[in-house]
Amino acid sequence: MDQTEFRRLGHILVDWIADYRERLETLPVMSQAEPGQVRARFPPAPPERGGGLAAAISALDELLLPGVTHWNHPSFFAYFPSNTSYASILGDLACAGLGAQGMSWQTSPAATELEEVVTDWIRQLVGLPPEFQGVVQDTASTSTLTAFLLARERATGFSQEALGLSGVPPLTAYASEEAHSSVMKAGLLAGLGKEGVRLLPTDSAQALRVEALEAAVQRDQASGRRPCIVVATVGTTTSTAIDPVAAAAEVAARHRLWLHVDAALAGTAMALPECRPLWAGVERADSVVLNPHKWMGIGFDFSAFYVRDPRHLVRVMSTDPVYLRTAQDGVVRNLRDWGIPLGRRFRALKGWFHLLDEGAEGLRARLRRDLDNARWLAAEVDRAPEWERLAPVPFQTVCVRHVPLGERDEGRLGEHNLAIARRLNARGRAYLTTGLLRGKPVIRVSIGALGTGRRQVEAVWDALREEAERDR
Ligand code: PLP
Repeated sequence: MDQTEFRRLGHILVDWIADYRERLETLPVMSQAEPGQVRARFPPAPPERGGGLAAAISALDELLLPGVTHWNHPSFFAYFPSNTSYASILGDLACAGLGAQGMSWQTSPAATELEEVVTDWIRQLVGLPPEFQGVVQDTASTSTLTAFLLARERATGFSQEALGLSGVPPLTAYASEEAHSSVMKAGLLAGLGKEGVRLLPTDSAQALRVEALEAAVQRDQASGRRPCIVVATVGTTTSTAIDPVAAAAEVAARHRLWLHVDAALAGTAMALPECRPLWAGVERADSVVLNPHKWMGIGFDFSAFYVRDPRHLVRVMSTDPVYLRTAQDGVVRNLRDWGIPLGRRFRALKGWFHLLDEGAEGLRARLRRDLDNARWLAAEVDRAPEWERLAPVPFQTVCVRHVPLGERDEGRLGEHNLAIARRLNARGRAYLTTGLLRGKPVIRVSIGALGTGRRQVEAVWDALREEAERDR
């Protein structure tokens, strides 16, 4: 492809993306593809001769769209909002166009310095104190794994610099049973073993019980284990429950545990001053993760990871081989030493573009719209006969179930609610996912796609009630 063809196809592709976004609402939200359906359209071997891209771009609708679930659809209510704004798309395009590697400051100073700027802007937006310094990771899973490695090394006096974990007392980590699975994964990958990760009981609002945390830490200390990290979740995955961060910070301080705050989804809400009391105590954390690639609008992958002590981070993450050394080492930030991978894309571009385009004011207005829609739906559910709301609604997720009059059998109720969601998704009008709260299947309505207004929330509520009626 030469430059002329690049320009031509590039314009066609940008138009295609804009058209796709414009007609999103006409497409079924969840892909209705059968397993293998997409793959069957592709030849099994790569083309021998080039020149096929223009045809492929014009066949995108037919080839790929049937196999795409539309995360930016205004009736997307599944999992969590995973917004990619137009500005963020352009940022990713600029990133690809530059094709720069930001592993060291010298390999592209702008990639490092813009990342410093953007992570600091996000820090200010969500009200974290200035001593926190941020870096962009691919996901919250990686951020939390990094926090575990930092905690492990602090608790063991840098075991990695000697024999690793051999000879070290068993390390333990603490989180609530509602914590995201990435917490368990981080514990497994950091060498704590499944038994070293304590998933503690929660209260009636699905939040960590601090007495259970204190008791578990004391029990582990008494049995010769070495408590090392506590993860407080602000906005759990199923119901957006909020662990008491300040109380967890007290326990952490008393026992010298690392405090990691996982606010992957709900951290964005802290751009609203009225939400900040919900994570009071976060200023005492050792590390915090929030995912602007969820609700904020910066496209995947953009997880913002903040630490209070970057020198500790760099000591744990740096291997400093001769072939990577540069003249500026010691004066600048080499982001290869701020996380696990060496190579890094210029992800700050999409963050910068998005924040410039939406502005703090625009972001706050959109978040308030979503919170308001969630409160509206919660009130509707509370008023509706035969519907239950199974969790408080501090943010944008509403957990509901339908309980037909006289039905007491939990097994049948579970099946009935799973069937409601399955049928609604199969019709393509909206996309919802389910979860389990205290053993009860719930339908989660997770509000917050960029285009979701009251109209779509009203429509999904109507659709839920219609599907419930069909199952009688
Ligand atoms: N933490 C919480 C509370 C989450 O809800 C999620 C994703 O749903 C994650 C972590 C994992 O996010 P990521 O996909 O960025 O690893």
